[in-house]
Amino acid sequence: MIRFTPILLAILYAVVMYRFSVWRTRRELDARSTELADPRLKGMTERLARALDLPRIRVNIYEIDPVNGLAAPDGRIFITRGFYRKFQQGEVTAEELASVIAHELGHVALGHSRRRMIDFSGQNALRTALAMILSRFLPGIGVWIANGLTSLLAARLSRGDEYEADEYAAALLTKAGIGTGAQKSLFRKLEALTQARAGAAPAWLMSHPKTEERIAAIEKLETKWRVEG
Ligand SMILES: [Zn+2]
Repeated sequence: MIRFTPILLAILYAVVMYRFSVWRTRRELDARSTELADPRLKGMTERLARALDLPRIRVNIYEIDPVNGLAAPDGRIFITRGFYRKFQQGEVTAEELASVIAHELGHVALGHSRRRMIDFSGQNALRTALAMILSRFLPGIGVWIANGLTSLLAARLSRGDEYEADEYAAALLTKAGIGTGAQKSLFRKLEALTQARAGAAPAWLMSHPKTEERIAAIEKLETKWRVEG
């Protein structure tokens, strides 16, 4: 029994963490968000909705400053106040913001956001179990190794999701007649913003793969679609 205790504890911990994260995320988003109502962006979301055969796509503003887009586990789409401000100031176009919305819709459609929550609590469980086991053999550094291994695994998993969401967005933007140009120009813009203010990278880029690799992946799709289409 003693032998399995760490694993049982880790599983229990994972379940509790999962429930708690879902509850906390929903509460936080409910408390700090409002529906996005901007006539210039409405035209964009209407085009995306038409392409998906949906009556409408609701986008919410999440009242935080970091430039970010997110998809909640319940399927709601959010753009941060900071990102919307960039649009209002003319730094980001309506098409570019539409590409973020399309990317987040991709995370929802492909089931990433729900899975990510499970990943997150799963990661914590794995981290805890590994740390407990490794610490027996490597007191002191076992925890560090467990942390490193878990983070590495998580980065690999989320990278795949990002490419999939980009691919979904590229297809949707193409179908909606908005095109993939905005998707690529936004990546470049955000990277330029990052370099201008080193250390203050937009959150949306931080959690995503390298800009050039993302652009290259979209261009590969375009070539493929041109050949097939
Ligand atoms: Zn993403």
